[in-house]
Amino acid sequence: MSVSLRDTRSHEAYQRALMYLPGGVNSPVRAMQSIGREPLFVDRAEGAELLDIDGNRYVDWVCSWGPLICGHANEQILEAVTAAAARGTSYGAPTVGEVDLAEEVSRRIPSVEMLRMTSSGTEAAMSAIRLARAATGREKLLKFAGAYHGHVDGLLADAGSGLATQGIPASPGVPAQSAAATIIVPWNDADAVRAAVAEHEFAAILAEPFPANMGLVPPAEGFLELLREAATENGALLVFDEVISGFRVAPGGAQELTGVLPDLTVMGKVIGGGLPAAAYGGSRELMERIAPAGDVYQAGTLSGNPLAVAAGLATLHQLDESAYLRLAATTEALANGLVEAAGDRPVQVVSTTGLVTLFFKDAPVIDYEDAKACDTEAYGAWCRALLARGVYPPPSQFEAWFPSLAHTPEHVTRTIEAAAAAFAAL
Ligand code: PMP
Repeated sequence: MSVSLRDTRSHEAYQRALMYLPGGVNSPVRAMQSIGREPLFVDRAEGAELLDIDGNRYVDWVCSWGPLICGHANEQILEAVTAAAARGTSYGAPTVGEVDLAEEVSRRIPSVEMLRMTSSGTEAAMSAIRLARAATGREKLLKFAGAYHGHVDGLLADAGSGLATQGIPASPGVPAQSAAATIIVPWNDADAVRAAVAEHEFAAILAEPFPANMGLVPPAEGFLELLREAATENGALLVFDEVISGFRVAPGGAQELTGVLPDLTVMGKVIGGGLPAAAYGGSRELMERIAPAGDVYQAGTLSGNPLAVAAGLATLHQLDESAYLRLAATTEALANGLVEAAGDRPVQVVSTTGLVTLFFKDAPVIDYEDAKACDTEAYGAWCRALLARGVYPPPSQFEAWFPSLAHTPEHVTRTIEAAAAAFAAL
């Protein structure tokens, strides 16, 4: 098997991109910096396979970072989007499709009676926080180290050392004041949560119920239940960011899987079926605070865009019970195969339906400190070796693999063989 990639065209495109786009990309992780190589430029993709502009073909385990649960260029989604586009791409006026999608989402997600659509997960998280602050009359947020909720100022806060720390800006340009209103505690640390809620009055406790932005780090037994109790006692809203877990780990997301119901839910990725769409939702009482029903302002020119709504609906319609059984089987085969391929090497394979992470670490990863202690150099080298063997893993240790319904047992086998060879080449 060939272990070097043709990359002349991608290299040329990257050089040109560097002239006009910061870092050559429109979103940082695409640059593949953290695995020590240049980005590949995509020509096209179908099903679970992706082709770059040099003609290299990969089994794609990134799948646009989560939206493509049905795979690339899915026929039903293409048909729905094409039909929608032929009727006009945007109206800035209501359509029946938006109501259909909202109805379908509220049927699936236990705590969502009503929702508002946005164009990105960042906007949805930002707006959910505004609503939580309006509903509670408070400003402070509790957030977990290693959780990502988009690039909203107040959520781009990094913790210092210690158990519960006041956020400091994680990026130049974030006002110290925005970050300071965010209190950060380690994920899976019940004592830290108890201490934080004893000390502060929060507008919201914000969590990815299955965090997947430090790699996949599932909640410890009872931890989500603790968050629910802590929020209620504190008078804060519990906000689940299900941008990744929604419609993926179960039909109704992590809240259906675990039975722990938040007050507000942030959704994205799968809900837009590969087009720009996201949403936040909750009880009718809370959501009717949003304008024009209520006084909390939030709007969007392209919110509820008919193409994105068509793609989202066509995606959700394919996600029946048998789809989740298939997704679970693919996930399990991939995770087990990676364990086997690793042999006795010091790695941790973590998975839940639709999500997998392989940590280069000799002990379980339960929080961000553990994740940061992984051997990212080894992960980078392993990823480069996988790419050279026609497998496209998430190019960062702090992300998840996204199995889809388009991945076949043959794709899994090819991936496991490449993984074993890539381990041997380290
Ligand atoms: N929340 C979570 C859990 C996410 O993973 C992401 C993006 N990966 C976001 C929010 C932000 O979504 P977007 O990139 O659409 O703004």
